[in-house]
Amino acid sequence: MPVTPDDASLMDVQQGGRCFFCDGPVGAKATFDHLIPQAYGGIDDPANVVLAHRRCNQRKGDRLPTHGELDRFFALRRSSRLGVWPPLRALRDEEGSEEELWMAVARAIARDR
Ligand SMILES: [Zn+2]
Repeated sequence: MPVTPDDASLMDVQQGGRCFFCDGPVGAKATFDHLIPQAYGGIDDPANVVLAHRRCNQRKGDRLPTHGELDRFFALRRSSRLGVWPPLRALRDEEGSEEELWMAVARAIARDR
């Protein structure tokens, strides 16, 4: 389900009004970044979305989140109704080459459908 204005407000509070990637203040200019990019099957749902500056969102582009970013995301979402999309957990548990990570994500997305 797409991010509602209520979801976005809650994300803003949980992120302390800061960009997920650079930790700078972002406020009302925040954009929605999909941790697993939509181009690769990432869902448009709060459980896969963080608030970020437009430039940080663009710089991230279509790469996968790093383990450090995933740890940060899981900490933010601990006991939050916004939740964590299961393929993000599968990615966190995977070690290996870039190609192996993409394969693990694809398998996890297929399982989630
Ligand atoms: Zn930023």
